[in-house]
Amino acid sequence: MRVMAQMAMVMNLDKCIGCHTCSVTCKQTWTNRSGMEYVWFNNVETRPGQGYPRTYEDQERWQGGWKLNKRGRLTLKAGNRLKNLMTIFSSPKMPSIQDYYEPWTYDYETLTNAPLQEHTPVARPKSLISGEEMSISWSANWDDDLAGSTELAPSDPVLQKVSDKVKLEFEQTFMFYLPRICEHCLNPSCAASCPSGAIYKRSEDGIVLVDQDTCRGWRKCVTGCPYKKIYFNHRTGKAEKCTFCFPRIEVGLPTVCAETCVGRLRYIGLVLYDADAVLEAASVEDEHELLDAQRGVLLDPNDPEVVREAERAGIPRDWIEAAQRSPIWSLINRYEVALPLHPEYRTMPMVWYIPPLSPVVDVVSDTGEDGEDSGNLFAAIEHLRIPVEYLAELFTAGDTAPVTAVLKRLAAMRSYMRDINLGRETDESIPAAVG
Ligand code: SF4
Ligand code: SF4
Repeated sequence: MRVMAQMAMVMNLDKCIGCHTCSVTCKQTWTNRSGMEYVWFNNVETRPGQGYPRTYEDQERWQGGWKLNKRGRLTLKAGNRLKNLMTIFSSPKMPSIQDYYEPWTYDYETLTNAPLQEHTPVARPKSLISGEEMSISWSANWDDDLAGSTELAPSDPVLQKVSDKVKLEFEQTFMFYLPRICEHCLNPSCAASCPSGAIYKRSEDGIVLVDQDTCRGWRKCVTGCPYKKIYFNHRTGKAEKCTFCFPRIEVGLPTVCAETCVGRLRYIGLVLYDADAVLEAASVEDEHELLDAQRGVLLDPNDPEVVREAERAGIPRDWIEAAQRSPIWSLINRYEVALPLHPEYRTMPMVWYIPPLSPVVDVVSDTGEDGEDSGNLFAAIEHLRIPVEYLAELFTAGDTAPVTAVLKRLAAMRSYMRDINLGRETDESIPAAVG
């Protein structure tokens, strides 16, 4: 066992209201410079929707992440550092500015100067670059306007994968928000694909950074990152990415996005992991076993053997204690309510998500109780608004069983706490039923 420390984050999606405060405060702090106009180290996606940049999850198109070769070994879809060094002048597969978004404003003239007429005038978006009416029909979060309609949002790569199972009538549409930052992966494909060796993972806390002096602007990392969380600063000619706010972390402050989050949904903290187990876990052949493999790499910070090995590895005592206080390991491994985003990319992401339980409203009993009351709990789980298949495609490579297990735990906790808050007798069979 080779113990290392890693900064990690868990986001509770039921609490995200899509206010974008995190994105704006991050941008004000880190990416309000020239050449970074389109860059959002933190963004909040509408689901269903195309994400940001548009359709970044379509790895057939962008060639991000790792795959297993015929011998079962990890291979970069984008090409490894050596191959990329020999082909540095070939074009990286990168989203265009239209896939990020063309900066726009609205044609307010039509609102203020339109003559009286039968229909309400519409302020159409117009490009801030050309001044013309926008030629595209999409930009980041415009999916909001589709109100989660699967009929209207067919370009969501996740939705496409489950389209045979998830067919919703208009009344059953669903929508939730997915905030995203760089995953600070344990097995980062951005670093492995950089011909200049400019991207590195800090040994002390696992934060992945771009050395601006070494970066030569080849942009192979943009192709290599399956989450498309590396951006190219066309003014400096260098790649830039989320830094997990390391200058703040180093003085004991949380990341800007976590500190300013209106929903208080971002948990950050240290985890301890077994560095010797990373590649084996990322190489597990069956994609449905990747979740357990990735959970298994993270070590129980209260296990005396882990503590001993961590001390032997030179991890400071106060860091070990920080990992013991951190909620991250517990949310992932003890309560098993947090899931990784797209584990099938095999980069071992370190930003995990508690999936949205969403309103449980479909089951209403004769007594007037709703689906969140204990008597209806498990029946209600069968009638969730957000299809489990869709969440599974995001978090468990399509395996619905672990997602259902998480949702049952969340529902159990919600109804158990409701009983306590209402001063009712608690049903002790509920915690036992969901483990
Ligand atoms: Fe690298 Fe971050 Fe992309 Fe992971 S999510 S591959 S660490 S840029
Ligand atoms: Fe969601 Fe928090 Fe960001 Fe608002 S600040 S969009 S609640 S993650």
